[in-house]
Amino acid sequence: MTPDPSWQPLVDELARRQRAGRKAEFWLRDDDAVDPTPALDRLLDLTGEFAVPVTLAVIPAETDGKLVVRLDEAPHATVAIHGWAHRNHAPADQKKQELGSHRPREAVLDDLARGLSHLTDLHGAHAVPMLVPPWNRIDAGLVSDLGSIGFAALSVFGPPKPAPLAVINSNVDIMDWHGTRGCRDHGLLVQAIVAQMQHAFDGGEPVGLLTHHLVHDESAWLFLERLFAVTARTEACTWLPIRTLIGRSAARA
Ligand SMILES: [Zn+2]
Repeated sequence: MTPDPSWQPLVDELARRQRAGRKAEFWLRDDDAVDPTPALDRLLDLTGEFAVPVTLAVIPAETDGKLVVRLDEAPHATVAIHGWAHRNHAPADQKKQELGSHRPREAVLDDLARGLSHLTDLHGAHAVPMLVPPWNRIDAGLVSDLGSIGFAALSVFGPPKPAPLAVINSNVDIMDWHGTRGCRDHGLLVQAIVAQMQHAFDGGEPVGLLTHHLVHDESAWLFLERLFAVTARTEACTWLPIRTLIGRSAARA
C-alpha cells in the first residue's frame, strides 16, 4: 500500500482488523481555530478530500462570523468550545492553565458558559457542547459543574478519568512541542497509533488524533495525508464524527 516501511505496522494492524471483521475507530480533533486562514483551508480541504470528520476546538473570545461563513462550506467540520480566551492565569513557574484554580470557580464557569453560548449562537447546529480546555488542563474540581452550565462532553489528552459527563479524549498528538516544534517522527507516530488501536481492540478508547493546523510544518501535513490515505479508504477503519462518540457515551451512562 505504501513503500515507506515505517507505515507497515499500521498496514498490518488494519489487515488484522479486516480478518477479525472489526473496524478500527479514529477521530480527529484540531485545536486553536479562530479565523479562516490558508492553514485552515488546507486542513478542511485535506479532511474533506478523504471524508474525515474534523472537530475544531475554537477559541470563543477571538472568533466571529468570518469562521461561520467558511465552515458553511465544510459540512464535515464540527465546532467545540476551546475555553474562553486561551489566556493563561497560572503563575510563570507553573504549567499554563486558563481553567485552573487560580481564579474563583464562578469566574471560570462564567467564562465557559459565555464561550458555549457564543459559539452556539454563531455556529448553530455545527457546534457541539464539548469543552476542550486550553493546554488540555482543567481543575478537577470544576468538572462536576460542567453539566450544569450546558456541556455534554469534555475532551482533554490521555487516558480518560471518570467524570459525570462524556469524556472523549485525544491520545495521539502529532506535534513535537518540546523538541523540534514540528511534526513528530512518522514512524513513532505510527507506533503510537497502532498501540492505541490495540488498546481500543481490548475495550479501550478509539484513536483520538490531535492536530494544530496553525503550526503544522510540511512534515505534519505529509503525515496527515499519508495517514488518511492508509486509513480513510479501507473497510477496516472508520473516522467517526464527534457526535457519534458523545452519543455512544451518553447511551452507556
Ligand atoms: Zn489550544
